[in-house]
Amino acid sequence: MPALTRSEAEARARLLDVHHYTVTLDLTGDGDTFDTTTLIRFTARAAGDTFVELKPDELRSAELDGTPLDPAGLTDNRLTLTALAAGPHELRLDTRMRYSRTGEGLHRFTDPADGETYLYTQLFLDDVQRVFPAFDQPDLKAVFEFTVTAPAHWTVLANGTTTRTGHRDTDGAAVWTSTPTPRISTYLAAVAAGPWHSIRTEHAGLPFGIHCRKSLAPHLDADAGEILGITTACYDRYHEKFTEPYPFDSYDQAFVPEFNAGAMENPGLVTFRDEYVFRSAVTDSERQRRANTIAHEMAHMWFGDLVTLRWWDDIWLNESFAEYMGYQTLTEATRFTGSWTEFAMERKPWGYDADQRPSTHPV
Ligand SMILES: [Zn+2]
Repeated sequence: MPALTRSEAEARARLLDVHHYTVTLDLTGDGDTFDTTTLIRFTARAAGDTFVELKPDELRSAELDGTPLDPAGLTDNRLTLTALAAGPHELRLDTRMRYSRTGEGLHRFTDPADGETYLYTQLFLDDVQRVFPAFDQPDLKAVFEFTVTAPAHWTVLANGTTTRTGHRDTDGAAVWTSTPTPRISTYLAAVAAGPWHSIRTEHAGLPFGIHCRKSLAPHLDADAGEILGITTACYDRYHEKFTEPYPFDSYDQAFVPEFNAGAMENPGLVTFRDEYVFRSAVTDSERQRRANTIAHEMAHMWFGDLVTLRWWDDIWLNESFAEYMGYQTLTEATRFTGSWTEFAMERKPWGYDADQRPSTHPV
């Protein structure tokens, strides 16, 4: 699988203006794979060749402006679009994709506690291609809209607000649709599905929710006041500091199983490792660390999500700003007024340690 190079990304960004992804996911299949149909609307600024990326189990069909493309044209993760005319285009792709168990793409987990299954996406850095086809680079932003078919007792979450809009007659599976996002990067699209335990509230006119797998429900309930209190306090403080209002239509925080990192700043649907749903007594430092992660990911809604790096060499700035804002806001708006001490004692040595390795390099 060739990785996208910076010069390839620059050439494609000069050629294309991507508008809209309409993604349909069917999550009712055999547990190994799922079906995705994707409609991408984009404009070519000039005539030329380009490519779309995908990593399917099977590319069933592809159609550009109503004309079939040969699925055998998929080489590694690239489907070439040759002799594209200048002007607007519609690309339709029908694929079978594979669930992951590594936290990359659409992760599928079955809870040993009760046999219930949960799914969530993790698309940073280039794993959107495991879920649906995309012009996968951070500066080709677009609107994302999802329609998801899932077992009847599941809840589907996405970047935008989701609504159960119908069901499939043959098996009663539920159909959910999400509101369209503002223009966001491909690595920030997000969906989570399963029989979540959810606590929902409203703040500043927006829906807020926290979610975890059902078997952790009593533990999330026990800390819901603290988690939502920190969330809304940080939200209000960011609005005092930034003139730009929160750019998305909802704020869901899902505590998901087997998550590789601490959390991911998907706009409107932040995912956290569900070790943050504490199951026994914890120290106040651990509570502060969770609060800091909440504050950090929320900072990304503005810096990272609304304003995004053009290319990955600026990821340091994305993270540094969220780190700075997270600690500052936690200190100003919550009871964790000494959180800069943690920064000095834990986060800085972590950076110093990384910087001393032979793999360190300027970014
Ligand atoms: Zn971050």
